[in-house]
Amino acid sequence: MKGEMKTAFITGITGQDGHHLTKLLLNNGYRVVGMVNGQRNVAESSFRKLFPNVELVNGDLADFSSLLSILAKVKPDEIYNLGAISFVTMSFSQPEITANITGLGALRLFEAVRSLGLFQTKIYQASSSEMFGKVNEVPQTETTAFYPRSPYGVAKVFAHNMSVNYREAYNIHISCGILFNHEGEYRGHEFVTRKITSNIARIKLGKQERFQLGALHPMRDWGYAGDYVEAMWLMLQQEIPSDYVIATGEMHSVKEFVEKAIEAAGLTGGIEDYVDLDKSLLRPSEVEILCGDASKAKQELGWAPSTSFDQLVELMIENDLKLNSK
Ligand code: NAP
Repeated sequence: MKGEMKTAFITGITGQDGHHLTKLLLNNGYRVVGMVNGQRNVAESSFRKLFPNVELVNGDLADFSSLLSILAKVKPDEIYNLGAISFVTMSFSQPEITANITGLGALRLFEAVRSLGLFQTKIYQASSSEMFGKVNEVPQTETTAFYPRSPYGVAKVFAHNMSVNYREAYNIHISCGILFNHEGEYRGHEFVTRKITSNIARIKLGKQERFQLGALHPMRDWGYAGDYVEAMWLMLQQEIPSDYVIATGEMHSVKEFVEKAIEAAGLTGGIEDYVDLDKSLLRPSEVEILCGDASKAKQELGWAPSTSFDQLVELMIENDLKLNSK
C-alpha cells in the first residue's frame, strides 16, 4: 500500500461525469490524473481552470501504447473508464469509431493493466442502460438480458462482457456501473435534456422563439450525475467487484421533461408554443422505455439517489439561465 494519498486515473475526464467525479475524488483527498485526447482538446483549458490541481496527460483509448505508458508511470489505485463516444445518435453515423473507442477502448485499457501486472488496481467500467435497448422486462436489473438498439449500445455490451471476462479470467477488480441516463450542469449540448434546458432558457431570455426535437414519447429514468458518480466511487471501495444498476426507478417522457423545463423557466404556454418536431432527428432504431431497479446498489453499496426529477430539471434550467444571461 502506497502512502496515505490514493491515485485515481480517469479516462474521459473532460466529459460530464469526469467533472463530477473529479470534484468528489479531490474532496476525498485523491491525487487525480486525467487523460485528454486529441491534438487541440477544446475542453482541456476550461477543465484546467476549474481543476488546476488535476494532472492531465495526453493519450487516447484508440492508442494502446499511450495507455501502456501512462499506466506504467501513474500506477493508479483506481481507474475510472469514462472515455467513450457516448452520443447514441453519433454512433449511428460513425459506428466503427464508436466500436473502436467505446468497445475496444475498454479492452485496451484492461490489457494494459494486465500486461503491466497492475493487479492491485481497481477499475470502474462505465456500462449503460442503453445495453438493455428493446427491454426484456421492466424495471431492468443486473440480470436483465441485453438487447442493444444502437452501435453505442452494442459497443457498451462488448466492453461490459469484456469487463466480466477480465474479472473472471485474471481476477482483476473490475466493476461495471450500469448507469441509467444522468444529467446536470455539465451535460453535453448534443444530449436531449441539455438541448431542452438550454433552448428553453434562451427562449425565456428572449434570445430565440422555438427549437426542434425528434421524438417526445421515449421514456427515460433520469437522475443527477452528481449522485451517480458517488455510486462509481462506492463500487471501487468494495472488496469484491460486481455489476450494479444505478437508477432512480422513476420514468418520465421527453414530453414531461420539456413541460417541466417550461414551468421551471417561468414560461407560460405548452410544448407546441416552443417546439417543432423534426423527423430527421429520429434515431434509426429507438429505445422506447428505460427504467432501472437499483436495489442491489442500495443493499450492497448503501447508495440511493438524492435528487428528484423536478429538482434535476430545475437545476439545469437555473444553470442555463445563468450561462445564457452573460
Ligand atoms: P461525455 O460527457 O460524452 O464524456 C465522454 C468523454 O470521453 C469526453 O471527455 C471525451 O473527450 C472522451 N473521449 C472521446 N473519445 C475519446 C478517445 N478516443 N480517447 C479517450 N477519451 C475519449 O460522457 P459522460 O456523460 O460523462 O459519460 C461518461 C461515461 O459514462 C461514458 O462512457 C458514457 O458512455 C457512459 N454513460 C453515460 C451515461 C449518461 O447518461 N451520461 C449513462 C450511462 C453510461 P472529448 O470530448 O475531448 O473527445
